[in-house]
Amino acid sequence: MAQRNTWQRERVREALTDARGFVSAQTLHATLRGENTGIGLATVYRALADMASAGDADSLQSPEGESLYRACTSHGHHHHLICRSCGLTIEIAGKGVEEWARTAAAAHGFTEAEHVVDIFGLCRECTATHAEAAGPGEH
Ligand SMILES: [Zn+2]
Ligand SMILES: [Zn+2]
Ligand SMILES: [Zn+2]
Repeated sequence: MAQRNTWQRERVREALTDARGFVSAQTLHATLRGENTGIGLATVYRALADMASAGDADSLQSPEGESLYRACTSHGHHHHLICRSCGLTIEIAGKGVEEWARTAAAAHGFTEAEHVVDIFGLCRECTATHAEAAGPGEH
């Protein structure tokens, strides 16, 4: 089927590339709505799902169970370190994890095993901000 709304999907792709870290379809849709593009939430959802299945975007579940997407610069398998406060995302390799996943799967006779391992925490800046907010003071 010819894609009538190719420019819309391109715009979704650009917005995802501009995003700092992982974003939800709703967040991306809100950004696009601010530009008066008229792109609907359903189009954003579909574009993101297609990009994810084509390997152009990474997707993961937030600890709250929301689907989040990101246009990563690393191609191929990798993991993420995600700041749960500001959203900063760092793409990381997981050598030990690869080894463990392979061994654990093989030990149970599993083949074609895949895994998803992402680390959520507070980045250096947010850790410093939090420490300041807590402060050495009495309150
Ligand atoms: Zn990624
Ligand atoms: Zn942060
Ligand atoms: Zn891995």
